Amino acid sequence: MNLRLWANSRAYLLPPKRAISVRAFSSLGFINPRPRYQVVSLPPGTTPPVSGLPRITHKIRFYTMSSDKVQPNGMPASKPVLFFDIDNCLYPRSTRVQELMAKLIDEYFEKHLSLSQEDANKLHNEYYRNYGLALEGLVRHHRIDSLEYNSKVDDALPLEDVLNPNPELRQLLEDIDRNKVTVWLFTNAYVNHGRRVVRLLGVDDLFEGLTYCDYAQYPLVCKPSKEMYLKAMREAGVERPEDCFFVDDSYLNCQKAQEYGWTVAHLVEEGFPLPKTPSCKYQIRHLRELRDTFPQFFKSTQS
Ligand SMILES: [Mg+2]
Repeated sequence: MNLRLWANSRAYLLPPKRAISVRAFSSLGFINPRPRYQVVSLPPGTTPPVSGLPRITHKIRFYTMSSDKVQPNGMPASKPVLFFDIDNCLYPRSTRVQELMAKLIDEYFEKHLSLSQEDANKLHNEYYRNYGLALEGLVRHHRIDSLEYNSKVDDALPLEDVLNPNPELRQLLEDIDRNKVTVWLFTNAYVNHGRRVVRLLGVDDLFEGLTYCDYAQYPLVCKPSKEMYLKAMREAGVERPEDCFFVDDSYLNCQKAQEYGWTVAHLVEEGFPLPKTPSCKYQIRHLRELRDTFPQFFKSTQS
């Protein structure tokens, strides 16, 4: 059941329907980490007071749970979560977003650290290798303002020119059974970029939330640090690593996720060399292969 609801207000449920758990999502912006809504059951014959509420901001989805999914303490049992990386994962490398981003990062290094083009490129790659995020090196060693960096790099990318709605991706995500699994974004980008990408791909309404690298926070917490994976689990509402499933194009992110107890599929696009040693249990060449890798989460196995 989908209802429209108002931020900081109440959801009124009339018998015989019962809301056991509430998850919130929005096409305008994800709610992290938890929705601030109160669910109230009303007696039969009562009319919920709906007048005088502020503007509609979020849609709420209610899941009615069967008794076998309720723990002894009456709380909903933890549902598995399927985490999706965003960049070079939800869209192919052929979009060349990575190259566009690398160019902007190099320019940023050149300008802000007064480096030659060659040295800027070298340092950028060194930080990326060492920290998994070029920005991490900039913040750590040069006290760069992360949000200013974000506005000059991620937010300055001409994504509108290269990313388009992807019907196949949309179908794949729609075929995931939300009664069986929570579908969650997990990125090292800042929230603006993450939201922008899924909106341009036309799939922003198909994820229940987003865990991103908070550039406003220092020190930065990002994949592959364990803290970032724990943050994702907290935000997605999952407690046990064995309930976490993940797809990412980064070897290191996949390797670490598996080390932390997640079940992982490493996306190595067709045409790119497979690593000599697999990073994790599963390797896939295209996201559509998730239907076979994690068939337990799909409504059907047909593409
Ligand atoms: Mg990626």
